[in-house]
Amino acid sequence: IGIRCFPFRDRLDRNLGAVTVFHDITTLKKMDQLKSDFVSMVAHEIKSPLNSILMQMKVILDGLAGDLTEKQTEILKRSADKITSLAQLASELLDLSKIESGLINQERETLDLGQLIKDQVQFFRDQADGKSLKLTQKPGPDGLSAIVNRTNIEEVVSNLISNAIRYTPPNGKIDVWCDQSNDCVNIHVADTGLGISQEDKPHIFDRFYRVKNEQTRFINGTGLGLAIVKSIVESHHGTIHVESEPNQGSHFTICLPKPEYDL
Ligand code: ADP
Repeated sequence: IGIRCFPFRDRLDRNLGAVTVFHDITTLKKMDQLKSDFVSMVAHEIKSPLNSILMQMKVILDGLAGDLTEKQTEILKRSADKITSLAQLASELLDLSKIESGLINQERETLDLGQLIKDQVQFFRDQADGKSLKLTQKPGPDGLSAIVNRTNIEEVVSNLISNAIRYTPPNGKIDVWCDQSNDCVNIHVADTGLGISQEDKPHIFDRFYRVKNEQTRFINGTGLGLAIVKSIVESHHGTIHVESEPNQGSHFTICLPKPEYDL
């Protein structure tokens, strides 16, 4: 049941009462579930064949099925790139529908955030070096922890670092660190990259939203990464916030409830 409440006020803004509307949204919910089931079924069905096509293409590209001309190699590489993007889309759609239907792994554990950041920074080291980006873990308080699902929060940090690498031109800087505020433990990912305009900022967490301009034209993506990040953070009763200026960089902050505040 959906409930909406409208207050009644007189001219002096004094409360006179309220009207409450109870709305049966069973059909809406059922349709939403059907849509979600359909998306995840399609994504699941196309993900495996795409991955197997990619493996077979790799065999050909590695020369294990005979020699290729330069032209054939080039065409095959371009096709493999497109299939990689499609497989990525299927996988992200699947992730999103799992999270939104509450089917994500609910197992929680106490996770040392400094260690989590250390592992992720190490994982992305080669990718950052390959683009001459200085990826650093800034020091934070020792032993800062949160009660989270490890796989999900790893995915959150990994998506944010991967975005920072993709949207920061060579020779830029990416810092990742954790700290705490009143009732939150925070994870920060800050870059000196392209930044995000005021107009785009409210939309970047929407599904399929991609910033379209000259600078982002050749950067591949699905527009689902930040939607996944937001859904995961919210499923942990947390919030995500971004500060950004075009051509100055972006600073994403994730706030997770301190263990004693977790609901
Ligand atoms: P994708 O990167 O696949 O397009 P995301 O949902 O991860 O999708 O991001 C949505 C949009 O937000 C991106 O298209 C990009 O324009 C912008 N964005 C995300 N992270 C950054 C960042 N660190 N710096 C600049 N722009 C970013």
